[in-house]
Amino acid sequence: MERLAVYPGSFDPITNGHLDIIKRGLRSFDRLIILVAYNPNKSGLFSVNERMEMIRQVVGDDPRIRVDSFSGLLVNYVRDAGAQVILRGLRALSDFEYEFQMALINRRLNRDIETVFLMTGYKWFYTSSNLIKEAAGHGGSVRGLVPEIVLQKLQAKYSTLSGKG
Ligand code: ADP
Repeated sequence: MERLAVYPGSFDPITNGHLDIIKRGLRSFDRLIILVAYNPNKSGLFSVNERMEMIRQVVGDDPRIRVDSFSGLLVNYVRDAGAQVILRGLRALSDFEYEFQMALINRRLNRDIETVFLMTGYKWFYTSSNLIKEAAGHGGSVRGLVPEIVLQKLQAKYSTLSGKG
């Protein structure tokens, strides 16, 4: 049977930490759906379409990867996609409690779906989309923490927001 996992997140924007989980996830799963999970009442820095477009550019045309978006109950998306696994990454201890709660509620909602965690690569321990936005928004360099294309999009976004673009 083909092993299909869904990797959900905000991906606002995708970072090298996410990319590490994607690459390593593909060693355990035949196919991955990278799912931009969003709340329609909350706006991020990038629109859902911008986030999906950046992910597509970064992963290239790998036939094992599909990029999608969704705003409902995650386990329903996973079931309808015919997947068995939710893939998540773990960084610091601070991720643990939230991830633990999410995994438990998702298992309660659908016992056929397992959440699988990959430990972050040590280089990406402190890399989060929020910190990246915080640093880049104040003019700090985040080179090396995000793919080049994301670096350019961040620079363009912040120069537009500050009226310089
Ligand atoms: P969320 O909004 O749920 O935190 P994110 O887009 O930030 O979603 O992250 C999606 C998933 O990727 C989460 O499981 C998160 O823990 C994981 N992740 C994010 N950054 C990293 C990183 N640097 N290393 C490993 N996993 C990460």
